[in-house]
Amino acid sequence: MAHHIILISLDALSADRLPWPVGPRTLTPNLHRLMAESACFRRATSPATWTLPAHMSMLSGLDPLVHGCISPRRVYPPEQLPFPLIFELLSSGGYGCMARVGGGYTEARFGFGRGCEDYGVVNPLQDCLKQVAAHAGSGEKTFAFVHSFVVHDYPMLTSHPQAMVLTDRRDPSYEGCFPRDRDFLFMMRGLALSKEHPQVKERDLAFLNDLYMARVAAADEGVRALIAALREQGTWSDTTLIITADHGESLGEVHGGRRHFSHGGPPYGEQVRVPLIIRPAQALEDLLEPGPVDNWVSLMDLVPTLLDLVGVPVDLSQFDGLSLLDLCQGRVSAFETRRLFFHTCEDRGDDKLWERLFGIAMLWRDHEKLIFNPRTGEPRELYDLDRDPAETFNRLGETDPGERRRMKAAVEEYLAATRDRAHQPTALPFQDFALTRRLAALGYIEE
Ligand SMILES: [Zn+2]
Repeated sequence: MAHHIILISLDALSADRLPWPVGPRTLTPNLHRLMAESACFRRATSPATWTLPAHMSMLSGLDPLVHGCISPRRVYPPEQLPFPLIFELLSSGGYGCMARVGGGYTEARFGFGRGCEDYGVVNPLQDCLKQVAAHAGSGEKTFAFVHSFVVHDYPMLTSHPQAMVLTDRRDPSYEGCFPRDRDFLFMMRGLALSKEHPQVKERDLAFLNDLYMARVAAADEGVRALIAALREQGTWSDTTLIITADHGESLGEVHGGRRHFSHGGPPYGEQVRVPLIIRPAQALEDLLEPGPVDNWVSLMDLVPTLLDLVGVPVDLSQFDGLSLLDLCQGRVSAFETRRLFFHTCEDRGDDKLWERLFGIAMLWRDHEKLIFNPRTGEPRELYDLDRDPAETFNRLGETDPGERRRMKAAVEEYLAATRDRAHQPTALPFQDFALTRRLAALGYIEE
């Protein structure tokens, strides 16, 4: 029997917005049903807060500083990616690979096309999933990667007017700082980078949350339709389905006395915590038992985990990620004290912006998060994730100089170790005007 693997990345779906445990009036009944038969990693994190580096880590198993795709202005020319992605690794195990992506930074030209001949941009999510189900139904052992902007595009009200459904019910006369009749993705990016503390009211935040959750519900409906199609053709029990995201999203959370919006910003919780739900094919359940897992894990772990799960013989030591099977089967406990790093946006050459908004975070002593300046290695913020999960109180001032020296030494050790192995993408000007416009519309680059 052919086993299929379907990996769905719901761009900008924060784990914080997929409530645990299930509430009585959940907007995501299908995702919750899926969770009940899945290994659910409740502390899954992305190593980056924006699309390109996060997906490159997800599909390569490498740290962002190692694969090097951390700036939209430095990318690999097509066909020159210097390391394998999951497509060719699974191809060597007999999988026929396909990818259906939403476009922008996940287009094949950013290096993602390596090892996957059937790599296409398709929107909306339902159409991607129909094509994936058809491929799995063809009988060939299938690996399908799906990336969708279904959640990410919650401020795109002209193309997704149904996002207003929750507001229409709860606050039908909403008027505030966000428009209710036009797209405002660019405005969200502006709020994220604004020098001023964004002035928004509780009513505005509730409006944003409504739009976002309406799109999460749309993603949930897509998952329902996919599972129904796989059941109908008799391939559901042979399919391993993974639901995750490249990064989360800030919807007005306050850190450091400032409200945060969008993503690609500082590595605070709601931007780096992602869902990671792995529902194994029936024959693989012994290897990855359904149930919650509370250790810190990373998107970098996906490639080694999937290779281990389906038994493709690849040297797993080449990855920065670890096989989660080792963790789930109790073979290692090292995950307890694991150093995980989370990267923010690329250096835009603006020192003030950098000091204020960007940085790299490191898990420190398992329950603390340290944010440091990657230029100097100096610690900047420290949060106790057990007592202050919302990351509101910077307790760096409570540490003694000895501890701060140990922090800086750990940071420098990481920067040196990744520097030694770092790949160097080429500085490449954008020559594709359609892509430039799309990235500018998403707020990532200036036209
Ligand atoms: Zn993204």
